[in-house]
Amino acid sequence: MTEAYILIVDDDTALLQALPQALYLRMPGAKVDTSDTAMDALELIKANDYDAIVSDIKMPGMDGLVLLSKIQELRPDIPTLLITGHGDHRLAIQALRGGAYDFIQKPIDREYFVAALRRATQTRQLRRQVVLQQQALEQHARSLEMTVLERTKELIQANAVKDEFISMASHELRTPLSSLKGMTQLLHRRLIRSQSPEVPSLVSMENSIRRMEVLVNDLLNISSIEMGMFDLHCQKCDVVDLTRRLVDEYVFGTNPHPIVKVYLPAEPIEAEVDVERLGQVVINLLSNARKYSGANSPIEVTLEKHEETYSLNIKDSGVGIPTEMLPLIFERFYRVPGIEVQTGSSVGFGLGLYISKQIVERHGGHIKVESIPSKGSSFSLILPLLINPMRIDNDNIQTSSSTS
Ligand code: ADP
Repeated sequence: MTEAYILIVDDDTALLQALPQALYLRMPGAKVDTSDTAMDALELIKANDYDAIVSDIKMPGMDGLVLLSKIQELRPDIPTLLITGHGDHRLAIQALRGGAYDFIQKPIDREYFVAALRRATQTRQLRRQVVLQQQALEQHARSLEMTVLERTKELIQANAVKDEFISMASHELRTPLSSLKGMTQLLHRRLIRSQSPEVPSLVSMENSIRRMEVLVNDLLNISSIEMGMFDLHCQKCDVVDLTRRLVDEYVFGTNPHPIVKVYLPAEPIEAEVDVERLGQVVINLLSNARKYSGANSPIEVTLEKHEETYSLNIKDSGVGIPTEMLPLIFERFYRVPGIEVQTGSSVGFGLGLYISKQIVERHGGHIKVESIPSKGSSFSLILPLLINPMRIDNDNIQTSSSTS
């Protein structure tokens, strides 16, 4: 503890000499200033940061209570002790109410006086430490805030560089990939014509190209979503017919053909859709259903019309998804850990559901998933028959789950 710096104010000059002596004896190292008027004391208080102030209450001119109120304004952190007359409880209470730290009764008991001052100076020094620690904390918080701001700026820049890279890489990959695709298709036809035994190898080459195409398209989609260039081109169409066509396209384009049971309403459902984008969602859900189920496990597709909406449900009896992972599967690049692809290739960046969610939401709809681990998953698209641009928001995803 540092040395105590004390101010004693009293018009009684004998006491003004005696009290410091008592203090020097019992608090070696203490520094004491004295003043015989409240006015002079105020000047000293303005100039010095005392650890404690002791003042007589009854003084000519400005009395101790007025001095106390001035101290409260000027330096409220300095504990002030007031000396009261013997048995003057009324004044003592007034002093405490006015913010005095303690009061000392006349005749002054030296031991009590020093003990009270010791407590007061310790309080003051503790208060100072608290202020210093608070300042250090504030400084630390400010520097942390700066670091967070800088890091955020760096991350935003790095993210922009990443987006640019994904966009550039996916565009650059698309051209050679489509010429490779064209050339293999040509070669395929030639090999079939010449009845070559190499046809199966070419088929597997074509499958690899198709998988690459899915990846590159996912990257292209993600970069146009990030850059705000992902537009829908909606038109009115019969969703029953569209669903039938998409399922056929998927089944006949997949080797071996997956078992897909389709439940469609007898009547057409006319709705506003971006045929290509919605097709992308359905194919993605179908291919996930197949990927995460056994080869012979059937997939069910059910289309239903409601009052202002229609729902398309794709259900598998595959590995399912743990409940706690359900809200995460629609995030970018998220793949459920520990879940193995059951059928077909393991292609995927964990982007398919994120892109699907974006497409469905831009139609003003939402996507819902229910899943029971080891029993299967059921993804539902709930879409409006008519698109109302005012009602399209970016946060209308719903996930729900059930456990066995
Ligand atoms: P990916 O290209 O990895 O399939 P998606 O975004 O389509 O990416 O899916 C994200 C993750 O969600 C998948 O990696 C998989 O772990 C899980 N998932 C998606 N569909 C199913 C499903 N039908 N059954 C089980 N897990 C699924």
